Amino acid sequence: MGERVLIALGGNAMTAPDGSASPRDQQAAVEAAILQVRVLIDAGRDVVLTHGNGPQVGNLLLKNQLAASVVPPVPLDWCGAQTQATIGTLIMNALGGRAATVVTRTLVDARDPAFEDPVKPIGRYFTEAEARRFEKLGQNWRRFERGWRRVVASPEPLEILDADAATALIAAGFTVVAAGGGGVPVVRQADGSLAGVEAVVDKDLAAALLAQAVRAEVLIIATDVPNAVVGYGGPDPRPIGRISADELRVLHAAGHFAGGSMGPKVEAALRFVAGGGRQAVITSLEHIANDDVGTRVER
Ligand code: ADP
Ligand code: MG
Repeated sequence: MGERVLIALGGNAMTAPDGSASPRDQQAAVEAAILQVRVLIDAGRDVVLTHGNGPQVGNLLLKNQLAASVVPPVPLDWCGAQTQATIGTLIMNALGGRAATVVTRTLVDARDPAFEDPVKPIGRYFTEAEARRFEKLGQNWRRFERGWRRVVASPEPLEILDADAATALIAAGFTVVAAGGGGVPVVRQADGSLAGVEAVVDKDLAAALLAQAVRAEVLIIATDVPNAVVGYGGPDPRPIGRISADELRVLHAAGHFAGGSMGPKVEAALRFVAGGGRQAVITSLEHIANDDVGTRVER
């Protein structure tokens, strides 16, 4: 068996370049992404996959809202589970052969401070009047540059609860898709049972945990930029190539990586390497099989 690689596919692997997310756009984007993944599989790597789900959850939330008077809206954790199934199906079709998707729950702490201060924007932009109406229904909304968006908690992933199922399928020879969208967030209740919560788990942080759980040697975070950059968007951007975890940690602490986008990727890379992973790579999808490109973090 070749080196085990966990690949986390970002939003651009699931929508058209302009962000369009029609079924046809999603299928085409997944097929293009899997062509890149296949290069690694054909090179003998033992590939495990995870993926984001932002635009897809946004679509489901809007459908819920528009149909609310006819069909009861479903909670956010259900939307997460639904997107794991649909995106997983697209990925399995594109992979062909023995592939399996594990509907995956991610354990979070009900006392995570993120629940007190929800900051992760989800879904589309709305007018202030609409936002105020949803606030009355108990949701949190915030004003951004382009309008109002719902915000939810993004608690720390503690454990990928269904990683054992993924491991068993990997051992049986399946190419596995798991922890899509960061996994369905669940909390453990007083009686020991699990319950879904209105939250989203960062897919990159969940990917780092999944990679550890399935004993991957390499974590590849496939996104839409070839490197993490120091001075991003400034006059003197400096792409980061090979770097030690210690050096990257210093840059991360200095605030070079934006929260909600590159920040969690860098954090995930650092956690994976600190947890014993051999290498974490942050690069664009078209470069995942190219050893000469990308931000490559090793201990
Ligand atoms: P994904 O859907 O793959 O998770 P994100 O949009 O969440 O993608 O994160 C990738 C984006 O992070 C890039 O397109 C870039 O705009 C942004 N970004 C923020 N800070 C940096 C940085 N320091 N270096 C590179 N990209 C950055
Ligand atoms: Mg992201």
